[in-house]
This record gives sequence, C-alpha cells and structure tokens, in this order.
Amino acid sequence: MSSKEVTGGRRSSGTTKKNAFCSFCRKSYRDVGPLVEGPGDVYICGECIELCQSILDQEQKRRGPSKNLFETIPSPREIAAHLDQYVIGQGLAKRVLAVAVHNHYKRLNSEWSGAGDVEIEKSNILLVGPTGSGKTLLARSLARMLNVPFAIGDATTLTEAGYVGEDVENLLLKLLHAADFDLEAAQRGILYIDEVDKIGKTSQNVSITRDVSGEGVQQSLLKMLEGTVANVPPQGGRKHPEQQYIQMDTSNILFICGGTFSGIDEIVRKRLGKRMLGFASGEGYRNDSDVAELMTHVTTDDVLQYGLIPELVGRLPVVSYLQPLDEDGLIRVLREPKNAITKQFEALFQMEDCKLEFTDPALRVIAQRALERGVGARGLRGILEEVMLDIMYDLPDQERGSTYVIDETVVTGSRRLFTMPPKPQTKSA
Ligand code: ADP
Repeated sequence: MSSKEVTGGRRSSGTTKKNAFCSFCRKSYRDVGPLVEGPGDVYICGECIELCQSILDQEQKRRGPSKNLFETIPSPREIAAHLDQYVIGQGLAKRVLAVAVHNHYKRLNSEWSGAGDVEIEKSNILLVGPTGSGKTLLARSLARMLNVPFAIGDATTLTEAGYVGEDVENLLLKLLHAADFDLEAAQRGILYIDEVDKIGKTSQNVSITRDVSGEGVQQSLLKMLEGTVANVPPQGGRKHPEQQYIQMDTSNILFICGGTFSGIDEIVRKRLGKRMLGFASGEGYRNDSDVAELMTHVTTDDVLQYGLIPELVGRLPVVSYLQPLDEDGLIRVLREPKNAITKQFEALFQMEDCKLEFTDPALRVIAQRALERGVGARGLRGILEEVMLDIMYDLPDQERGSTYVIDETVVTGSRRLFTMPPKPQTKSA
C-alpha cells in the first residue's frame, strides 16, 4: 500500500488539498501538522499514529508475548503437504512428524491460554533411517514452515562433564544463536540432534571413545529432553564457576533425534520372529526393499534393545523410520523438490539468458554414482557439482539465447556440452 505525506495542505504529488484532515481525530493539518495519506482520501496525523501504536502495544501485552505466534497451527495435513514440497518419499515419517508437531504446538498454545486441565505431555521424536534419507531435511523443513528457530547438533560431540568434548548446553546455545538470542523464541524452537545411536552402550556401537558406556551423555541429554532450566554459557565452551549463564527452559523445545541405528533391523526381525512370515528365517529378507518393509515396524522396544537407556527412550515416544532412497527416489530428489539441485542450475543458466535441460538417463547416471557412494541423497550435490564445474566455468562466454541439454554422454564426460569455442568478448551488459 502506498502512502504519501501531506505537508501544509499540499500533496506530495503537487496538487493542493487545503481541506485535508485526520480521518481519526478530524483535526485539520493546520492544527496537527503533517498528515499521512492512505488510499482513497484517508489521512492520519502524528498524534493518532502514536495513539494507535500504544493501543497495539497494550493489546500485545494483554495477550502475552507469544500468543500470536501460533494463532493458526497448521493441520497435520497442511504440515505434510508442506513437507512434500521439499522432501521426496518418506510418507510414513511425514505423517508421524506432522501429527507430533501439530500436537506439540497445540500443546504450547493451550498452555499459554491456560485452557483445559489435562496436561498434554511433550512428544519428542526419534527418526531412524540411513544417511542421506532426509532426516535433517525433514526437521529443517518443519522449522521453516512453523517459523521457529532451528539448530542441528551432533550427539557424538557430546561428553559427560569432565571428559574432553562439548556439554549438552552448547546444543541449546546453537538454538539461541539461531534465534538471535531471543530467549523466548529459542525456548519454542526445534533442536535436531543427529547420531544419537552412537551414544548407545551396546556392542553394536563401535565409536565410544569418550565416556565408557555413553550413559553419562544419555543422562545429560535426558534432562534436556525432559524439560529443565539449563544454564547456557553465552560464549560456548565448557562451563566454569565464574561464568554468567543464560537460563534456558527446555520444556517447550521440540527435540527431534536422528540416527542410522545400523543393525537395528536384526533386532526388529528377532522381535517380530515367526509372526512375520518371510522375516523369521533371516533368509531372503536381506534385499533393501525387504529391510525397508521390516523397518516400518520399528518401535521404541527395538531402540531400547539397541542400547539407549530406558529413560531416554521414554522421552522419545514417537519413533519413525525413513527408507533408503533407491535410484528412482534419487532421480526425484534431483528434479522435484522446490529447490531441487537441477532447478538451481537451470536458474543459473537463465541468468545468462540460456536454457538448461537434463535428460532422464543423465540423472540416472548421477543417481547410480550416488548409490555407489552409499551416502544416499547426500552425495548428489557433489556429483552434480563435479559434472557442472567446467560447464559453469565456460557458461558466461557462450552465445545467449541457446538451449543446452545435459544427457548421459555429458555426465560421463564423453561429450562436451559447449561445442563452440568460448568467446571472451561476447559478454554484453
Ligand atoms: P540425513 O539427515 O538423513 O543423513 P539429510 O536430510 O541431511 O540426510 O540429507 C542430505 C541432503 O540430501 C539434503 O539436504 C537434501 O538435499 C538431500 N535429501 C536427502 N533425503 C532427501 C529426500 N527424501 N528428499 C529430498 N532431498 C533429500
């Protein structure tokens, strides 16, 4: 909306408006000075602007500082639809997350308005799934949709006090940073903690090098997940007695924990035992799609068996599984998400007035390479960047207005995309 200032009865457009007066207090510009003009002969004076501001401030105070943040909590369906724009597949995990997140923020809202006397407990979430299947992406996309601060921590960097490493409070500090030190906002944020499977205490776990059982770390994580007022050192690092702390209440922070839990499929299979025909024998279930199907049955019991302490598992009541992405899934990741990597390169070409297209076989070769690397979709960007490096180097020197097609021969390096010699002089303003 455009607005113009009126001074001395003269509009900024130059036309005289001698009878202009404030539409709110009805005083003329002669009495109250300059007026701000809105669309359709509407004016407001400085005094009324100040009055309006103080009314709004009072209203804000009355409703409480955070009330309006979640006035409309998106429904689980809306949350899942939003996630669909960014995350390929993982329907089950999206559904589970959508419900858990919807309930979480609904719970916060009812707390604020003081409605109801049933206490709804927080449901932190555990995502089990292979590397590069979208665990972090799901958590990040959720936070973006809800417009809450988001931070990522890694459980393997944490150690019990007294060992070399990070205190759990540093994870909270990351969230505080993400919220620009707005404590209230941070206390409603989402904290994603990766690799929680690596702090288990079973023989499955090969990477315990710090505290002997991993149990100390689990205990300190537990406190944070349960809800506590933590002393967060604003400068980070280890705590020391003379330091000033920021007191951060974790009871409304949504914790999403993630881990690959490699080998947990064995535990699920054993638990399901003979009830699941085909999984019972341990034979013939080893192909990827069978394991994925088996893993849809993962529960907190299996996680417990894996070596997380019961109290911690108790604080992660929502467990969901993410499937490994197969070749077709990886191709979709390359093409479909709102900010898909191929779309990003297409946009870069557009900036040079050129059109870029990728053929399906080209994307298939890239997906196959990613599968060989075994890091899921995480490998895709690196592979595509390698393919595109020389092309992007030469692009600004090419003729404008052309269409270029990246097929599998370009990806494998047997054909160059730009056949014409580069023209260093052709770049025009
Ligand atoms: P994880 O946390 O499961 O190891 P990430 O979420 O960090 O995996 O995935 C790494 C990158 O791979 C993401 O930033 C995203 O670009 C891509 N990616 C992974 N899984 C998916 C998916 N299901 N849909 C779309 N992109 C994905």
